[in-house]
Amino acid sequence: MTVLTSRLLASLPGIEHGFGTRNATLTQAAMASVKQIHSDVSFIAHESGCIGDGDAIITRDPGVAVSVRTADCFPILLVDRDTRAVAAIHAGWRGTAAGVVTSTLARMRNEFGTDPRNVFAAIGPGIGACCYEVGLDVARQFGKTEAGKLDLAMENRNQLIAAGVEADRIEKVGGCTFCHPAQFFSWRRDHNSAGRMISFIRIVAAGVEAGPT
Ligand SMILES: [Zn+2]
Repeated sequence: MTVLTSRLLASLPGIEHGFGTRNATLTQAAMASVKQIHSDVSFIAHESGCIGDGDAIITRDPGVAVSVRTADCFPILLVDRDTRAVAAIHAGWRGTAAGVVTSTLARMRNEFGTDPRNVFAAIGPGIGACCYEVGLDVARQFGKTEAGKLDLAMENRNQLIAAGVEADRIEKVGGCTFCHPAQFFSWRRDHNSAGRMISFIRIVAAGVEAGPT
């Protein structure tokens, strides 16, 4: 499989999504994207193309794919089953410490009335706690008192739950990017030669088979 999918998100009708591996042929050319800056800044997208500097993109427009690029950082995809808003989030340690998933859910509530209890979430492949040693400065951002392993996927999962997302509506997809060089790019492992993997989600446009009118 060159593009991984979440069983949970795939069970929701009219939503298309994927977490690209290093072998995927996905391109962001026809997707909404951001210049990622490791922040909690989000945008509402109405069309494809780069919207600005930030780390989360939300849309409720059918046909508009929202996307992020990662290599160790975590791609996180959200679906509000009721309002049918979707989001793509880029969460490394800085974005996670800034609470990017929490601020994205708040933005979805403000813009579309999203209730977190109706949200389904998939956390894609990123660097696992197995391979992610951080120093004291970073560890302190997560309430720890010593350097050591950091589980960024779990930190994001905990933030989603704290924001009101049901634990059984959060799925972890894919393994550790550092551990699986044949499948994933890893910035920590490959440094500047690391490519980026594209993850995306969109609401399938109704009647798309009929072509433009
Ligand atoms: Zn690992």
